[in-house]
Amino acid sequence: MRPDILNPLFVETDAFEGVGPKLMKPLEKLGLTRVKDLAYHLPERFVTRRAITNLDEGGEGEQIIVALTPTEHRSSRSPRGPYRVLAQDEIGNICALTYFGRASYTAKKQLPVGEKRWVAGRLDRYGDMLQIVHPDHVEKESAANLARLNEPVYRLSEGLTQPRVAGLVAQALEKLPELPEWIEPGQFEREGWPTWRDALHLAHKGTHETARDRLAYDELLANSLALLLVKADSRRRKGQALKGDGHLRDKLQLPFEMTGAQKRSIAEIEGDMQQEAPMLRLLQGDVGAGKTVVALAAMLIAVEAGKQAALLAPTEILARQHFETLRTMAAPTGAEVAILTGRAKGREREGILMGLLDGSIDILVGTHSIFQDTVNYKDLALVVIDEQHRFGVQQRLALAAKGKRAPHTLAMTATPIPRSLTLAQYGEMDVSRLDELPPGRQAIDTRVISQDRIDEMVAGVERHLASGQQAYWVCPMVRDSETDDIAAAEARYASLKERFGDDVVMVHGQLAPEVKDANMERFAGGDAKLLVATTVIEVGVDVPAATLMVIEQAERFGLAQLHQLRGRVGRGSEKSVCVLLRGNELSETGKKRLALMRETQDGFRIAEEDLELRGGGELLGTRQSGEAAFSIANLEQVQKMLPAAHADARLLMERDGGLTSERGEAARILLYLFERDWGVQLLRGG
Ligand code: ADP
Ligand code: MG
Repeated sequence: MRPDILNPLFVETDAFEGVGPKLMKPLEKLGLTRVKDLAYHLPERFVTRRAITNLDEGGEGEQIIVALTPTEHRSSRSPRGPYRVLAQDEIGNICALTYFGRASYTAKKQLPVGEKRWVAGRLDRYGDMLQIVHPDHVEKESAANLARLNEPVYRLSEGLTQPRVAGLVAQALEKLPELPEWIEPGQFEREGWPTWRDALHLAHKGTHETARDRLAYDELLANSLALLLVKADSRRRKGQALKGDGHLRDKLQLPFEMTGAQKRSIAEIEGDMQQEAPMLRLLQGDVGAGKTVVALAAMLIAVEAGKQAALLAPTEILARQHFETLRTMAAPTGAEVAILTGRAKGREREGILMGLLDGSIDILVGTHSIFQDTVNYKDLALVVIDEQHRFGVQQRLALAAKGKRAPHTLAMTATPIPRSLTLAQYGEMDVSRLDELPPGRQAIDTRVISQDRIDEMVAGVERHLASGQQAYWVCPMVRDSETDDIAAAEARYASLKERFGDDVVMVHGQLAPEVKDANMERFAGGDAKLLVATTVIEVGVDVPAATLMVIEQAERFGLAQLHQLRGRVGRGSEKSVCVLLRGNELSETGKKRLALMRETQDGFRIAEEDLELRGGGELLGTRQSGEAAFSIANLEQVQKMLPAAHADARLLMERDGGLTSERGEAARILLYLFERDWGVQLLRGG
């Protein structure tokens, strides 16, 4: 149960003054549905504006306030193009006020031709024209009330404005309770940190680094504590020591020799499974590194020992692909492999449930439906989770609870993570790395061309499809609020569809799962030739004939994501090409990243260099691949403070494993605050 003191923080935003259903939609999009979400919606930056009387006084890139009178509204010929309002200052200088996406509706309302308005925003140049892209404020009143020092700039979504969000945040801050201190007193003194409540107030007022650090530290501490609680719990629960005698593995007739890395990983897994303590191991390896056969070997160890194993896949299609592969590979061993997804109904489902209960099924492959309450196993001893980041620890535990004794867990991921960050992302898991690709892989020919040459690219895709091969087209999803990413992807899809007709299908996160699956299956089955997608996960199936990938505005993706995306082509024997389209406003780092992509295909190297290249302000992991580990702490803070937070959590657990002391109670509050309460629930009587 959540401590009462936190209740005000979990009050829904729709109870706020002036918040109706219309505002809830954009708020939901940003995840701002409760008081605490708003309080933690920290400004991306602060601006100080200068009021000027005419545009000659403003420097390029400067935040200004100026009186302008609109003279003309211009919509763009292309549907994705910007909407521009031309406006004049006192002495006749012209400036374009530029809007993308549906923001043009706001522009139409706020900027009637011939009426003077005070406009605040960043003065830029577009060609030889001055412009302000998405002004922060457009008001009838004088400059005075716009010229604030340190005005916070919040991340927005369509339908929200800066003043609106600032108002809601202010309401949320008023509702914050005082919470007991969970940070170790010595540390708190040493760092000179503000209390939790003060820190939140300060973080919205200006660039208060100590306040930001404190809030980030809270998140890191909560995470470390939760992971340690999980670990302590799994230590408490006995697993089963499994001794596979090799009689099934010996019967495998693999068409290849295992790589050294595969053999080493299997040995590490086998060693873990022989222990009574449940295995908690992560298998890391690039797309194509051969994780599946390692998983199979692990599962056969369980079956050799007379037990069952289950493999959990993130999507229905991936479950089917795994099932087909595993069934074929396992056929000579005689192990019984079955699949269970949400689609299995009636008698088919009954049959599978029976087989699991009486032990006639040895290996089960499926989606999350394999840990529903109605699914019971005779003796589940190993759980393999593909693409760890799609599943929280919570689900892992739900699954773990199925076995009579805690099953061993093997998580697999294709996301290369720098060594220094593995702890943050995966807690105290042991790690096996497949750092060696199977021999004979063709390198993927990676090219970088300007986004301006997109027409040529489309023609290239046409030739590619005409030769009987398939292709991916990836549109970026960015956290940029102003352009609606899905809309952009839809527009691209529409224009490609004009050209390629029914040969094109699209998948993105806002499609109904059935539609997404059906589209994906059309592509995987070869019926559709071109797949337009928006995220890494959505292109996560093996389609051997897909030998071309086009990634739009490639600089907007993280390197690790680009790498993972690219890994999807070149799975067959054909030569494959990956084209990175770069936008025109490529930064220095952006250039280095794309060059690195051309230079290497080593995921671990890419991950390490990515870390070097990234600005410290970025979040660890990204929304794009659904793996953002932290929402408050940025990369720099993770590196700076995680070791301390982890050590602190460990010390607290050693002294007060039940979290019953005064500080322990405060730590429980922290866990609930960051919704890491699955950790607390593992405590006896928690
Ligand atoms: P991933 O790590 O992406 O899951 P897979 O397990 O799907 O990779 O393996 C990719 C392909 O490589 C499969 O066709 C698989 O049969 C093949 N493969 C795996 N191990 C080897 C190996 N040691 N030698 C040659 N091919 C291999
Ligand atoms: Mg795989």
